[in-house]
Amino acid sequence: MLGQMMTKQLTISSLITHAETYHSKAEIYSVNTGGGVEETSWGQVGRNARALGDALTKLGLEPQARCGTIAWNNRRHLEIYFGVSGAGFVCHTINPRLFPEQLVYILNHAEDKVLFIDATFVPLVAAIRDKLEHLEHVVLMEGRDEAAAEKLPGLKFYDELVATGDPEFEWPDLEENTASSLCYTSGTTGNPKGVLYSHRSTVLHSFAINAADGIGISATEVVLPVVPMFHVNAWGAPYACAMAGARMVLPGPGLDGQSLVKLIDGYDVSLALGVPTIWLGLLAEAKKSGTKLESLRRTVVGGSACPPSMIAAFRERYGVDTIHAWGMTEMSPVGTVNKPLAKHSKLPVDQQHALRENQGRPVWGVELEILDDDGKPLPHDGKAQGDLVTRGHWILDSYFHATREETLTDGWFDTGDVATMDPDGYVTIKDRSKDIIKSGGEWISSVELENIAIAHPKLSDAAVIGAQHEKWDERPVLVAVKAEGEDPTEEEVLHIFEGKIASWQVPDRVVFTDVLPRNATGKVLKRNLREEYGKILIG
Ligand code: AMP
Repeated sequence: MLGQMMTKQLTISSLITHAETYHSKAEIYSVNTGGGVEETSWGQVGRNARALGDALTKLGLEPQARCGTIAWNNRRHLEIYFGVSGAGFVCHTINPRLFPEQLVYILNHAEDKVLFIDATFVPLVAAIRDKLEHLEHVVLMEGRDEAAAEKLPGLKFYDELVATGDPEFEWPDLEENTASSLCYTSGTTGNPKGVLYSHRSTVLHSFAINAADGIGISATEVVLPVVPMFHVNAWGAPYACAMAGARMVLPGPGLDGQSLVKLIDGYDVSLALGVPTIWLGLLAEAKKSGTKLESLRRTVVGGSACPPSMIAAFRERYGVDTIHAWGMTEMSPVGTVNKPLAKHSKLPVDQQHALRENQGRPVWGVELEILDDDGKPLPHDGKAQGDLVTRGHWILDSYFHATREETLTDGWFDTGDVATMDPDGYVTIKDRSKDIIKSGGEWISSVELENIAIAHPKLSDAAVIGAQHEKWDERPVLVAVKAEGEDPTEEEVLHIFEGKIASWQVPDRVVFTDVLPRNATGKVLKRNLREEYGKILIG
């Protein structure tokens, strides 16, 4: 016997429809790329998203055509999120900080037909335009701009495109498992991999975010997603805010402490989300300016481990509750959120604070397990440390253009993180098994750097590790072995990276050693290297 309840498909268009119907006046503040703040509302964003969806449909795009974005967090980007997915196309957010070759690879692999870009990225896209095999339309996220059109022949303009669409456009009925959005993650080896989200996974993830023991966004909130919209859909914040009818502040290109303090104080931000590096800048600026950050009640910190001192600074100086969360691109991204249990309220305050430092416990919809080297589950005792694997409603099943067999093991996705879990499910991330370096919230592949370094004629061996860094969390350090009879300087070695990778990916230091430690199968023991050199950048 079947239940006798209505069945509605879980679609992204239902989120924006809710926001524009019941929260049409809720404000969206958006920092323009060229400066200045624009005020709009969920009602207007909804109408523009519909018009955009209609305009794209009229361009004759096939269902699920990929529409890329290279853009900051702003109002037009928000409209693209809903307009593209709502109309049955795939919103493919692209990280502008990638090296041009990686951008070309990603755009071609995804077969993007349309590319929306902010004015900042006109030169970047002009330089690679000829190599983008499937691209038919480049759309500048502005009004008409003849100077930009000269650099990119055939350039379209967002405001003009939207004007060709109907703001009353009816969203098509989509099956909830239809692909909605795409985001690439760079692994340690090989090319970046695509994670293809569905309408269903996105809506369920939004529910989890909005649960009280998730992030718990409500209609009373003013939400500032500092986490970029090109990084895992700004952790799902745009969808969750639409579902809740929360007001939003979209910070545009300026993510420095001073700009963020101004936005928080100027627009009464109550909840802000971002990586630890961002909050370091904000805390320093807040201290300097003497602001009390009156409106700010909570920050969500993730993407890399949140230092306990940061949680304490927010709490003690500003009365702000920091919510430490963990996840990844492959998990939409939220996996765990650190919220207390009832029994914790009976503990001494110091212990309560200490319990807020780890990465938290799984939200409903995410299952986690820690496995030993043979793939056997380890005890959840807060001590045993193993490979963290996951499965659930918003965890990827297979990478874009890859198979399930290539992606999962026994139905579980290996996160690549090494963690402990306590009996209540609280997870502590100990390490990344893949040794990838995370600098200011961005990945740097150690293997990529090693591949370049090892080609240096005056080196015989090389390994790259992430060394701790006060500002950027981690920076790459190259541990190199000199070739016989050679005596290169640090500068000579670093010269080899020029023009091959983005400048921010170049290692901060080179240290020379006689031989690299290796395991029985010949793999470099990076853990040993980190023990030896992991702190050389912090004095
Ligand atoms: P990404 O897919 O770029 O979002 O990166 C995901 C990875 O970032 C995870 O597998 C972790 O290694 C790391 N990460 C994310 N959040 C945290 C956190 N709260 N603490 C430690 N590492 C984190």
